[in-house]
Amino acid sequence: MRFSRLFAPTKKESPADAEIPSHKLLTRAGFIRKVASGLYDILPLGAKVILKIEKIVREEMNAAGAQEVILPIMHPSELWQESGRWEVYGKEMIKFKDRHERDYALGPTAEEVITDLVRKEVKSYKELPLNLYQIGRKFRDEIRPRFGLMRAREFIMKDAYSFHADDEDAEREYWNMYETYSRIFKRMGLEFKAVLADTGEIGGNFSHEFLVIADTGESKLVYCEKCGYAASTEKAAQRKPEVPKGRETEFKEVERVHTPGIKRIEEVSEFLGIPQEKILKLLVYLVDGKPVAVAVRGDREIEETKLRNAFGAKDVRLATDEEIEEFTGQPKGFLSPIGFKIPVYADYSVIPMVNFVAGAGEVDYHLKNVNWGRDFEVEEFIDVSEVGEGEPCPECGAPLKFKRGIEVGHIFKLGTKYSEAMGATFVDEDGTEKPMVMGCYGIGITRVMAAAVEQNHDEEGIIWPFEIAPFEVIVIPTNVKRDEIRELAEEVYENLKKKGFDALIDDRNVRPGFKFKDADLIGIPFQVIVGKKAGEGVVELKVRKGGERFEVESGKVGEKIRELLQGGI
Ligand code: ATP
Ligand code: MG
Repeated sequence: MRFSRLFAPTKKESPADAEIPSHKLLTRAGFIRKVASGLYDILPLGAKVILKIEKIVREEMNAAGAQEVILPIMHPSELWQESGRWEVYGKEMIKFKDRHERDYALGPTAEEVITDLVRKEVKSYKELPLNLYQIGRKFRDEIRPRFGLMRAREFIMKDAYSFHADDEDAEREYWNMYETYSRIFKRMGLEFKAVLADTGEIGGNFSHEFLVIADTGESKLVYCEKCGYAASTEKAAQRKPEVPKGRETEFKEVERVHTPGIKRIEEVSEFLGIPQEKILKLLVYLVDGKPVAVAVRGDREIEETKLRNAFGAKDVRLATDEEIEEFTGQPKGFLSPIGFKIPVYADYSVIPMVNFVAGAGEVDYHLKNVNWGRDFEVEEFIDVSEVGEGEPCPECGAPLKFKRGIEVGHIFKLGTKYSEAMGATFVDEDGTEKPMVMGCYGIGITRVMAAAVEQNHDEEGIIWPFEIAPFEVIVIPTNVKRDEIRELAEEVYENLKKKGFDALIDDRNVRPGFKFKDADLIGIPFQVIVGKKAGEGVVELKVRKGGERFEVESGKVGEKIRELLQGGI
């Protein structure tokens, strides 16, 4: 490809709504353009990256035994009614009517459509297992589309669905996909982690998210270097502390203290000169509409996904100030667990607490030396606060590490949720009819492109991993008007193409500094600069990552690149 013909409109300025590097850089470097909120044009450079990502995904999915299909984007409402998700999916699903006034949606995911296909065509255990995937458009009317391709309203996803005769086989395929995903992200040259993820209503331990590590990521994860445990903070378990032996012997007498206008934990801590770990935070939630109090150590935060799971609830939310007063008869900010009108559940972090501070149940007063067991009863100790850096690993007790990441993939054992709802059954070896056991496996293709940039960039621009770079190498003649420079550059370019490299030549008649800036911004992994020593047949090879430069004979550029790649660049 010749730069003079390439449609890659680069820009000096970032878009006004861009908050994170990938959104800024993909726009500035001419990979994407915004059409409307959450909708993007993908320009030639972007399309090349997407196709390379898809190629890796296809090769690995095919090698793992999955088969590619192409399903419609337009989904009839009847299928979603059958699964019960037409209403549940809510506003995120884009719904519309056809000319006959029939309801449709633009598919946000395809469990219903694929289950419909398989239930109609698969009848016997002999036809199982089956893993079908597609790479296509998905539509989700996100509440807050943002970060460019990261959270868009229309995006490209690889979605796979597998069907099995029993649980054991579904688990085998789950781990097959786990390994396949690990290979996919490794081949893309990305630093990633597979973490245990929330399984919501389906439950169990068969959901992993694949996160590309990046400080700007929306997902949080903890992991253990000793035993390999890794989980999203929505799922990560706390190690249950022991009840301290003889704790009763330490109990002191309850003391009422005047704390005028002091409500928030930080204020209470500062006012009383008592660390937050010794203060009880009491929160009132509505769990599927039922009021419940949850106590947690003052310095910790409730993780609402864990709370929802602890109660097996569909919906949890904090009560409003009015609701708190109504349910408890106590003023917000001074809630006391003593004589509380609604059941008090306590997070594991409360177990070791003795002689702690709590609200007094009246405005402007707190209590010191409160103790659970003596002053109030805990309905049940539950694991509902967020686990953080340095806390003990739930598996082995070693200190956990913390990172942020971007969710690029998700694998999930669905069990029989959809097959039962939609009647996807088969006749087993013993002649009985059973629902198929299912799994689903997604990769956000367009999000991978953004995540790769988020992880790999510097002040100058993008630094593409070689495998998914829009071009692998760019040849830059510093002055196209000088014959020996232009001719040698053309020769190197042709040579590289012949050797199988995806090469670009910057044949534009512009200042060399301008070309260098564009090459750095676009992020092509190798730059071949043809200039000063062209007369001697010598060129300069610059590695975008790290900026190392080598003088190379013009005929040996390809070999040098291969050598550097083998060395792990
Ligand atoms: P998130 O929690 O980020 O909203 P999700 O749990 O809704 O993701 P899945 O339903 O598991 O996502 O979809 C599979 C993959 O599709 C995700 O892992 C992610 O990579 C990608 N994806 C989901 N929503 C979007 C979006 N709005 N824009 C781009 N990619 C997305
Ligand atoms: Mg989502």
